[in-house]
Amino acid sequence: MSPFLFVTDLDNTLVGDDAALLELNQKLAAHRQQYHSKIVYATGRSLYLYRLLAEAKSLLPPDALITAVGTEMYFDQQESQYDREWANILAQGWNRQEIAAIASQFTDLQLQPNSEQNPFKISYYLAEAVAESTLAELQAALKQKGFEIKLIYSAGQDLDLLPKNGDKGLAVQFLRRRWKIAPEQTIVCGDSGNDISMFEGQEKSLLVANAKPELLEWYAANQTEYNYLAKADCAGGIIEGLKHFGFI
Ligand SMILES: [Mg+2]
Repeated sequence: MSPFLFVTDLDNTLVGDDAALLELNQKLAAHRQQYHSKIVYATGRSLYLYRLLAEAKSLLPPDALITAVGTEMYFDQQESQYDREWANILAQGWNRQEIAAIASQFTDLQLQPNSEQNPFKISYYLAEAVAESTLAELQAALKQKGFEIKLIYSAGQDLDLLPKNGDKGLAVQFLRRRWKIAPEQTIVCGDSGNDISMFEGQEKSLLVANAKPELLEWYAANQTEYNYLAKADCAGGIIEGLKHFGFI
């Protein structure tokens, strides 16, 4: 057995089946102790909401934490100080104030609470009925001012404006470079659309059986030896995938 980089989404991927999570935690903790494998959580949650979940579900302390869909990274989450090197990468082409000013002209966009905002993420509510036209017009308005920004619309209500370098997949690449871990020695696990950015490289990809329709659709069009759709849900599916790829 050799060390590997384990990256997982939290809600409905790592978390969702408490018994299987307990079993997986034991396996991961033992592997980390014996082979120095790394454990990383990549979540859409803010640091605050992550802490609530980590406490409620006794999550293993991760070696790195990627929060707010890739717009913050922490190596010591006690300190609440996000990683500066990652922040510098996100800052390229991003100007929060100017971008928010452009978006404020769109009356269908309603700003989400402060807990969901951060220096590299601006989040709104947007009704599904007007989403398509609003997104197209907003994209055009941003482009006109020279901003190449990611617009991530999900769950028929949430709109995140993110730096072009801000996603879970690029955050994983950054960690692989920092720790010098090859893609073949990396497994990424997820259940929904914002996990797709992690699945597009040569890392081993594990989709839990309870994956959302948008991810199953992606899988149908991207069936390679790197991607595995588990038969079990949540942590049970992760254990299955770790075995499938020979990591445990
Ligand atoms: Mg999820």
